[in-house]
Amino acid sequence: VSRFEGITMAPPDPILGVSEAFKADNHELKLNLGVGAYRTEELQPYVLDVVKKADKLLLEKGENREYLPIEGLAAFNKVTADLLFGADNPVIKQQRVATVQGLSGTGSLRLAAALIERYFPRGEVLISSPTWGNHKNIFNDAKVPWSEYRYYDPKTVGLDFEGMIADIKAAPEGSFILLHGCAHNPTGIDPTPEQWEIIADVIQEKNHIPFFDIAYQGFASGSLDADAASVRMFVARGMEVIAAQSYSKNLGLYAERIGAINVVCSSPDAAARVKSQLKRIARPMYSNPPVHGARIVANIVGDAALFKEWNAEMEMMAGRIKNVRHKLFDSLSSKDKSGKDWSFVLKQIGMFSFTGLNKAQCDNMTNKWHVYMTKDGRISLAGLSLAKCEYLAGAIIDSYH
Ligand code: PLP
Repeated sequence: VSRFEGITMAPPDPILGVSEAFKADNHELKLNLGVGAYRTEELQPYVLDVVKKADKLLLEKGENREYLPIEGLAAFNKVTADLLFGADNPVIKQQRVATVQGLSGTGSLRLAAALIERYFPRGEVLISSPTWGNHKNIFNDAKVPWSEYRYYDPKTVGLDFEGMIADIKAAPEGSFILLHGCAHNPTGIDPTPEQWEIIADVIQEKNHIPFFDIAYQGFASGSLDADAASVRMFVARGMEVIAAQSYSKNLGLYAERIGAINVVCSSPDAAARVKSQLKRIARPMYSNPPVHGARIVANIVGDAALFKEWNAEMEMMAGRIKNVRHKLFDSLSSKDKSGKDWSFVLKQIGMFSFTGLNKAQCDNMTNKWHVYMTKDGRISLAGLSLAKCEYLAGAIIDSYH
């Protein structure tokens, strides 16, 4: 009998499990709208041309495969902070940002969670309801208590702004408020610039610490600067801010596991100390991060021509998703005879759309229509093509009514 007899079977991951079910389906019209990964109009994975070029240059340079320092590649850490905060941001000039290369967005969030667990024993994190499913796992495993603030209003399929503000106000002073920098996952609903200001007011009043998860910079609007506006506004107010970055989506580097954790501190001293402790947390966890993705990012951002090319490709990807969003809205509006207002689809931003479908309706989408999606009603528009919009609209309308 196995010594591991006491270990029960873990449930499939609610997001990655969808892809496994999709693979097992042989229906010709099947659609995978579960995972948030960009696909071409032909629904194929996409490697950016600029990444291929950077790869070729790296191969020619023939750099060694020595260990990186614990904090990661210096050239990457510099450009990643520049991209997020803006290269001429005073916090960078004043060396008030502790930046450590992490294992993409997830690993960077995990480092920050460990920092909170270690140095804020009464620290509590507030996350949006709903949020990306892995947030809860990350804080659970790091043993950081979390609770939720209201975010999604099912009546309007929009933002419950009053609920959000009330819950942030009611949180114990000095809580960490987890915010999606842009393109909220799973809802696709972002606060307006005016609403962001009010959120910052309340966070400041309550002495909370804003903790940004920004996994889609450049991917929401097509502009790196526009998508970082929320983070930059908080920093410009002089607040201390945590921000986790990912290059999975905007550079399509999913499997390279490249991202960073940034902690903006009120003094360079504090930043140096925070960085030293982040390194101390990383060392026994994974020792040091992988080099390849870091070199790709550093080379693309560090070269004016490649950087320009990246921006154009990002715009192209964001543009394709916007086109699909419009086509889906048009298909829903023209096919549906019930008079339902579908305009919420157009108000959402980024890779995802929240359809408002409940679990039973999502089951109908999959079982009857072979459309694979998470059970919260989220669909990834990045996995949809213009050609499939009519089919999807039919499936959604059938499932709704
Ligand atoms: N945060 C959010 C909100 C996400 O949607 C994702 C990816 O789906 C991530 C973080 C992290 O992704 P990765 O670990 O691939 O960077």
